[in-house]
Amino acid sequence: MILIINCGSSSIKFDVFHQDLSAKILFGSIDEINGKSSTCKYSYNNVVHKEKIKNCSYPVALDTISNLIENKNIYQKIVAIGHRVVHGGEKFKKSCAINDKVISTIKKLSSLAPLHNPVNLAGIMYFKSHFPQAMQVATFDTAFHQTLKKAQYLYALPYKMYTKFMIRKYGMHGISYNYVSQQAASILNIDKSKASFLVAHLGNGASACVIKNGVSVDTTMGMTPLAGLMMGTRCGDIDPGLFQFLANQNKMSVAEITNMLNSESGLLGISQLSSDCRTLEDIQEENSMADLALNMFAYIAAKNIAALAVNLDNIDALIFCGGIGENSSYLRKKIIQQLKILNFHINDDANNITIKGKQGVISANNSNSIMVIPTDESLMIATDVTQLLSSNNKT
Ligand code: ADP
Repeated sequence: MILIINCGSSSIKFDVFHQDLSAKILFGSIDEINGKSSTCKYSYNNVVHKEKIKNCSYPVALDTISNLIENKNIYQKIVAIGHRVVHGGEKFKKSCAINDKVISTIKKLSSLAPLHNPVNLAGIMYFKSHFPQAMQVATFDTAFHQTLKKAQYLYALPYKMYTKFMIRKYGMHGISYNYVSQQAASILNIDKSKASFLVAHLGNGASACVIKNGVSVDTTMGMTPLAGLMMGTRCGDIDPGLFQFLANQNKMSVAEITNMLNSESGLLGISQLSSDCRTLEDIQEENSMADLALNMFAYIAAKNIAALAVNLDNIDALIFCGGIGENSSYLRKKIIQQLKILNFHINDDANNITIKGKQGVISANNSNSIMVIPTDESLMIATDVTQLLSSNNKT
């Protein structure tokens, strides 16, 4: 069996697959780690369980997952563990088996993703010592975007900022883009290596990507996951001049400004109510700030999708995925209404029913194809793990 671990800053997701990837035996998540109401939710043999965890620190959460696997008698069957790692810099262009060198490189790259890589590493170190029989694999969110060309990934800064500090666009959500673009090519029955897609991965973290001939050509997130689209609590693209302005006018430090841009901005910052689009959609008719936040989210997403399209000669499909992309028919419609220039038109009935994990085409007959494809990052990681396992067994 194969275990997939996705360590986030306040949650850990886990999935146990049969080695042939035909089914998930156990999957779940622990949310609100270090919070007041940490809960472990999991499904085992299709039965859902929910347990509160007291004083749930990060080590307690990792122990809870490990104990669960032992209690279900699947510990001995785990032959490999795949870890999602957010930032692989320029070092990792594909998934790889984890050894000491890989660990030290991920550690070095932590300065590029200080909220993510250290917790990803905590998971790797824990499972390496508690499951020594299993091969450990790292799959990187940035790897899919290593096909970007210099003209797309460089910032217009002095060139030595790149050579000395590796300041450049890396992009994130690559595991998701890889998965949904493979799915879309297979649904449309086209060769992935010739396919052209625009993809919007819209969740708490949100980004868009343009894929040409099967590879990422450009994307909206940058050196860090703060850039690009408006998100739940992140600002997306802003004028970098505001650092100087706020330091002078409001005596804010770099750390305070950075925290504001990461945690107090986006849907939450504009609405002053919530980072969750469901809450905002529920009250938007009577609350003009909720309405404004949703309008801005849709406009910024549409504008970026249109900008990415300059890389394409034709469009096989626009794909929506992520919590918002898979569920919010309201925001999808608002985005698509602003993309008529790319010949995207919505089929309202199809849009309204394609929610809650359903996959489908939501475009009108006269439109370029628009699809909703629920992403499955853990299946994508598990696919890479099985490939590495089989090449390992051959050598
Ligand atoms: P993350 O980036 O944390 O992985 P997700 O992809 O889980 O985020 O997306 C979370 C967001 O998805 C929530 O903030 C919420 O706004 C949105 N969402 C989830 N379910 C629904 C739904 N049924 N309707 C509208 N939005 C939803």
